[in-house]
Amino acid sequence: MSDHYRGRFAPSPTGPLHLGSMACAMASFLDARAHDGAWLIRIEDIDPPRDIPGADKDIIDTLGRFHLSSDEPILWQHDRYDHYQAAFDSLVHDGRVYGCSCTRSQIKTRSEELGLPGGIYPGTCRSGASADARSWRFRTDAEPIAFVDRACGPYTQSVEKEVGDFVLKRADGLWAYQLAVVVDDADQGMTHIVRGRDLLDNTPRQIALQRALGVPTPSYLHIDLVLNNSGQKLSKQQGAARVPTEAPLSVLEALWLHLGGEKIGADSLDAFWSIAAQLWGRRYAR
Ligand code: GLU
Repeated sequence: MSDHYRGRFAPSPTGPLHLGSMACAMASFLDARAHDGAWLIRIEDIDPPRDIPGADKDIIDTLGRFHLSSDEPILWQHDRYDHYQAAFDSLVHDGRVYGCSCTRSQIKTRSEELGLPGGIYPGTCRSGASADARSWRFRTDAEPIAFVDRACGPYTQSVEKEVGDFVLKRADGLWAYQLAVVVDDADQGMTHIVRGRDLLDNTPRQIALQRALGVPTPSYLHIDLVLNNSGQKLSKQQGAARVPTEAPLSVLEALWLHLGGEKIGADSLDAFWSIAAQLWGRRYAR
């Protein structure tokens, strides 16, 4: 294995591994193996109010039932606060961060006054850090961010207009996902990110942060989500069922079809992974 390809699966330990997260684990693993690269597990436990004690071990054990294990020691985000602080400090130094005193309801009221769609920060605290800052935001700029996703194709977003200045450090003092994921992907030398399509529209924020921090931008591939019977994304927080492990091969075959493959019919997990990686490599050569 070499440094030319480093990929990861980065679950948040907010519940057991469900079929949706298993599909992401599978796709990221196959992409790494197809490139003869390294596949790492990183536990994204930076949100104690949402994290469930023991879910990290449970996820790692479940992955093991499918013969998936990290090629390097697993990284836990709770060990990484100093690194997030250092990146934050350098962004502060460069004038890219400001304190924000807005509550959720103030943001909502102001957005409505300005006629902005929901979820966009209206920039209330942009010109003048208020003394009573609750959270800390990244100052976005006007340049739209464009990248080519390996599955979804070209994608462009004006982070400033479509998202607004986003939070790096939350009002409860916790680090935001956007900062943590960028710092860890960079420090771990990740070259390829394979994850669910729900994060496609987060990617421009991450690229904006990579540019501000002067770190490389990996390549991205966002896979289709696994939906439940009502067409909603499976989510650990909403109690999606644990992926069944009694017949792991049939689960893998089903997820493989979901990812657009054709029936493999392997007689062992290891045979499945090896055939699937070859087929994956033909489809996603880059
Ligand atoms: N921790 C995130 C999640 O479980 C995934 C982050 C990522 O792959 O960038 O949804």
